[in-house]
Amino acid sequence: MTASYNPTPIELVKQVANEVIAPLAATIDQEKRFPKEAFRAFRDTGLLGLLVPKTYGGLGGNLGDLVSVVEIIGEYCGSTAMCYLMHSCATFVISSHPTTEALQSYLREIARGKKIGTLAFSETGTGAHFYIPEIKATHKGDYLQLNGRKSFVTNGDEADFLIAITNASSQELGLDMVVVDTDTIGVHFEGTWEGIGLRGNNSISCELNDVNIPLSNIVGEEGDGMDMIFNVVAPAFILGSSGVNTGLARGAYRTALDHVTNRKYTTGKSLADIPAIQYYLAEMCCYVEAASTFVHDAAKKAVSGDSTAMLHVMQSKLLACENVNLVTNKAMQVCGGNGYSKELPVERYLRDAKAGSVMAPTVEILKEWVGKTVAGIPLF
Ligand SMILES: Cc1cc2nc3c(=O)[nH]c(=O)nc-3n(C[C@H](O)[C@H](O)[C@H](O)COP(=O)(O)OP(=O)(O)OC[C@H]3O[C@@H](n4cnc5c(N)ncnc54)[C@H](O)[C@@H]3O)c2cc1C
Repeated sequence: MTASYNPTPIELVKQVANEVIAPLAATIDQEKRFPKEAFRAFRDTGLLGLLVPKTYGGLGGNLGDLVSVVEIIGEYCGSTAMCYLMHSCATFVISSHPTTEALQSYLREIARGKKIGTLAFSETGTGAHFYIPEIKATHKGDYLQLNGRKSFVTNGDEADFLIAITNASSQELGLDMVVVDTDTIGVHFEGTWEGIGLRGNNSISCELNDVNIPLSNIVGEEGDGMDMIFNVVAPAFILGSSGVNTGLARGAYRTALDHVTNRKYTTGKSLADIPAIQYYLAEMCCYVEAASTFVHDAAKKAVSGDSTAMLHVMQSKLLACENVNLVTNKAMQVCGGNGYSKELPVERYLRDAKAGSVMAPTVEILKEWVGKTVAGIPLF
């Protein structure tokens, strides 16, 4: 009997990237539409369940696998990478505390490709300070009732469930993290996503009007929300965002390298023969490798429980978000007018690259947190 070969998540995502994501990236951006085809492929390959433990039918991956996978997706399509990242962060929240039958059932459904998730943290009133929500949960019998509005919900109405952060039913309790099915009565998505980049990420507002959530959908104990934000969501989202942005930078660099070696003048010389262009190539490849190495190392530290992991995790997003802007600018410069036009995908990488810095934790907030950490000052 021959043993069956199980491809690794990296092999799976490379195949999906080549066959589905890369060919559709320009269309997703142009038509501002959710990457349905890629999500179908994630479902068929089991990648939707990357972070679902094997006991619930998933691939049993960790945050290192998440970084590798989103970096590869981001190299081809930023929108698809961000949608997948938000789904994976939502999955990771449930995987971290599968304490009720209801939560375990979400994991099985995600692994079977039946559910797409997302994070609904941001609110207009508190903006980048996603860890201080204004919406509140009220106890109604066996339910928590939610009222309020979440903004910038990636995946939007394409998601089957969202992880919402809300004030717990009493002030002393702190925050709750809850799973909300998007087909629950009282959940309404509004608007369309009109960003300069990540145009397919369907990041829209979600209104919650008297939405009743079973108590079994609270992740962790009631009131554990703040711990969950910093110990579960932050490492996953920050590392993943670093991976997405490193992928975008790599995609821009690869496109520029390809262009400058193939663009020939009538003299027979290529752009790559020009020293100034070679300097840009050197800078870009160093920045890409530095960010990539740093984020993979930070992920290793997070997975192994290293006591300095969180500092490295925060630094990885700072580096990745600043690098992706440097690299995409340089990529456009070396590609000249062709880079400025839609002839090449460089302009898309440059637009997509702008999101990472303004997505929470934003680069300003990360700088404050990293600065405080190295100076031994508590974050709050
Ligand atoms: C493409 C995209 C997808 C997103 N997807 C999601 C999602 O799926 N789920 C979700 O919950 N949210 C999501 N967000 C929201 C995101 O994480 C932020 O909450 C949101 O971008 C904050 O925008 P704002 O204009 O309200 O920022 P503001 O709070 O108005 O901040 C504006 C600027 O001021 C700076 N600033 C604010 N306070 C301080 C301070 N104390 N010190 C220094 N600087 C400060 C910020 O860093 C920022 O640069 C998404 C955002 C984008 C752009």
